[in-house]
Amino acid sequence: MNLLSVNEYGLYCKQGDFYIDPWKPVRTALITHGHSDHMRWGMSHYICHHHTVPILRLRLGVENSVQGVAYEEVMEINGVKISFHPAGHIIGSAQIRMEYQGEVWLFTGDYKLEPDGVSQTYTLVKCDHLITESTFGLPVYHFPSNASIYADMNDWWRSNAAEGINTVLLGYALGKAQNIIAHADESIGPIFLHGAVDNVNNALSEVGYTFAGTRITADVKRDQIRGALIVAPPSAMDTPWLRSLKPYRIAMCSGWMQLRGARRRKGVDRGFPLSDHCDWRQLNQAVVQTQAKHVYVTHGYEHNFSKWVREEYGIGGSIFKTLYNDAEEENV
Ligand SMILES: [Zn+2]
Ligand SMILES: [Zn+2]
Repeated sequence: MNLLSVNEYGLYCKQGDFYIDPWKPVRTALITHGHSDHMRWGMSHYICHHHTVPILRLRLGVENSVQGVAYEEVMEINGVKISFHPAGHIIGSAQIRMEYQGEVWLFTGDYKLEPDGVSQTYTLVKCDHLITESTFGLPVYHFPSNASIYADMNDWWRSNAAEGINTVLLGYALGKAQNIIAHADESIGPIFLHGAVDNVNNALSEVGYTFAGTRITADVKRDQIRGALIVAPPSAMDTPWLRSLKPYRIAMCSGWMQLRGARRRKGVDRGFPLSDHCDWRQLNQAVVQTQAKHVYVTHGYEHNFSKWVREEYGIGGSIFKTLYNDAEEENV
């Protein structure tokens, strides 16, 4: 019995007649999280975690037809039992568990096991069939702890500020940006925000989150911004907006920054390997601990990782071809 399969609209559950993170308009869409490759426009009915609801409204302008659910809350769609569980990827991100006739399937969405101090920490959900992403599904990816990355960021900001130079950290507006802000040491200096980051923060404030930082508007005098931390999305690179904030040093925050050469190719002064995704070790830990009998691998290194799962663990490993692309990690 296959509870999930891929068709031209997305990941489909035939028994329940619903989709998960579909890429074409469908009637019922369960949404794992608010990144644009997973949450698309045009669904008649969206179901997502409560904290994803304001993100959905902000990004898609959807007012009706959105149903927020709590983690662990069990509901039933056409006889399929469904529940959302923390994925540890970004605020509101969920793994989706489906149970039908005693068999359990789990779609991780994007996820990471290591707590980031902002999003709800990943919880282990045991299953028979695991559908996992594999963005960093190569042994070369072994991320340092988030605590050490945050410490490195603050050290760099401190030394730049001592020279009167601004520090620009580029990170995706939903996820990375909140992690950076939440761990920035405000005793070093002021924090300023790109409008895209401030928009997300404002949306998240509707569900109880508060983040430091002042939005940079036309009214903010540029000579007041000295020794500051500026948080902006990668799309701010090479814009007049960014040039108006000189003098600055700039860094990219992405898991890809772990590899030598990535920083230089991006044309930034530094790279911090801050990731919203599992590294190789975490992917393997998830596969083992879920006790899945079969693993389906999606976006990332799916060929490599599904082969590894078969050979290393002697369990079923195959590929789900999806259209997720993880723009949030800004592949270089
Ligand atoms: Zn994502
Ligand atoms: Zn993704």
